[in-house]
Order: sequence, then structure tokens, then C-alpha cells
Amino acid sequence: MDISELMKKATIFHGHICPGVAIGVLVAKYAIENGFEHSPDEELVAVVETDNCSVDALQAILGTTFGKGNLIHRDYGKNNFTIFSRKAKKGVRLSLKNTFFDKQKANRDERVKLLLESNLEDVFDIEVVDYNPPPKAQIEESISCEICKELTMSSRMIDYQENKMCIPCYQKFKK
Ligand SMILES: [Zn+2]
Ligand SMILES: [Zn+2]
Repeated sequence: MDISELMKKATIFHGHICPGVAIGVLVAKYAIENGFEHSPDEELVAVVETDNCSVDALQAILGTTFGKGNLIHRDYGKNNFTIFSRKAKKGVRLSLKNTFFDKQKANRDERVKLLLESNLEDVFDIEVVDYNPPPKAQIEESISCEICKELTMSSRMIDYQENKMCIPCYQKFKK
């Protein structure tokens, strides 16, 4: 799998070249080469602990996307990526080594180059994890909010003062 092709694909989706995209490309490349193939449906699920640039590379290359519900964001602010394959029933976790960028004071372009030229083992700690992916995305009924009348997923409705309402309406009422 050609790294420059993957960088191109991710960069078109993301909009610019940056170290984050390079990190995501490396994660995606590792995944594809180790039996986690691109996911047209929900074969793969990615659990990411960051919402930075890197995640766009996973969306573009692995097909783990926000819209399909097979991209789960845990808001920990860490460069950790866990990929599960529902087909192969396995999981792997890559986490950026905290010492990786210590080696040299690199600017943005140099960081991209450094990432793409390094051995993967020098960039990430890689471990096989137990197969326990998050549940599949649910298709859920939508109902009208009694206040704003907008269709809202039923699990996101709140009962408040004998009205069923959406979260933004609830927040206005609460004030
Ligand atoms: Zn970026
Ligand atoms: Zn509402």
C-alpha cells in the first residue's frame, strides 16, 4: 500500500497536509495491512481519543466515518486509535509514543516527513486488544419536540414539566 497515494487521498478529504493527517494515514495503513480492510458498511469501527486532523485520514481511508456511526470519539484529547474488525473479530490499538517528537525540534513540514519516514514501531505503541467493539449504530424513531416541533431522535428527548422536548429547548427552559 503506497503511502503517498494514501496521503493524497487523506489530504484531498482533509484539505491540507499536516502532521495529524500523517499520523492518521500511518494508523490506517497499518490497519489495512493487518487485516482491517476498508469498511463500506460497519465492518470496521474506530474508537478515537482525539478529534484532531488525524481522524480525517481514518474517515477517508478506512471508511470509519461519523455519519455511519462506526467512528466513535472519546474526548480524552489523546492520540490513541483503536480499530476493531467485526468480520475478523479482532482489535488493535495504536498510541502515539510520547517521545516521538522529542528527537528533534521539527516544524510542521519536517514533522510530516519524519512521521512518514520512520518505522511504525518508533511512532506508535501497538497492542492487540480484546474484541469488545462499541455496539452498532441504532436506527431510531424520531418524534416532534413539543416546543420547537423539530424531529428529534427519541433517545435525545427530555421529559420536563410535562413536555417532551429536545435538548436545545430544554436548555432554554432551564435558564
Ligand atoms: Zn490538519
Ligand atoms: Zn425543541
